[in-house]
Amino acid sequence: MNILNIITGNVARGPQTVRFPGREAPAAAYRGSVTMDAAKCLACGICDYVCVSRAIAVTPGAASCEWTYDPGRCTYCGRCVDHCPVAAVTQAGDRGDSYARSGAQRATVTVPYPACPQCGRPAMPYNEAVLGAAFGDVSAELRERIHLCERCRRRATTAALKANFGAAAETGRSDDGR
Ligand code: SF4
Ligand code: SF4
Repeated sequence: MNILNIITGNVARGPQTVRFPGREAPAAAYRGSVTMDAAKCLACGICDYVCVSRAIAVTPGAASCEWTYDPGRCTYCGRCVDHCPVAAVTQAGDRGDSYARSGAQRATVTVPYPACPQCGRPAMPYNEAVLGAAFGDVSAELRERIHLCERCRRRATTAALKANFGAAAETGRSDDGR
């Protein structure tokens, strides 16, 4: 084809791009931007781990965890939604406004840790369904311990081990007749 014909055709067709900040409607198969429900989140970091484009970052702190999402990096693949064990991550139809600066749409959600029922210090969030899926039918004692902060859980476990070993030693002694 003659180059002049190509140029004339392009000029006649007009611009094929949209001037910023305008935008085309998303494709029908577009999954949507990612949102997260802090009330459901376990701060496990799986969404961060599976996000290959590093659009999600989960940063644990002492009393809460920061969950960050940058739509500018997101490929809308849906892996975070598929892998979140408590369905805290969802994708909705809106993709946000146009932006000119990298990171301009980055959003942060704070996930507060619940208080330890024994000492009141922050304890990691936990979910009954995930506990069951991971460990099956656990005892009421362990179920109670999962609510505790790391320190109280360590103390409770140590005390339970000591009590069990003490009882076993007593039984052993009486069996031996000593
Ligand atoms: S949809 Fe894909 S790219 Fe976007 S945040 Fe989730 S895992 Fe990352
Ligand atoms: S959103 Fe889901 S996968 Fe991500 S940290 Fe929270 S519970 Fe884990």
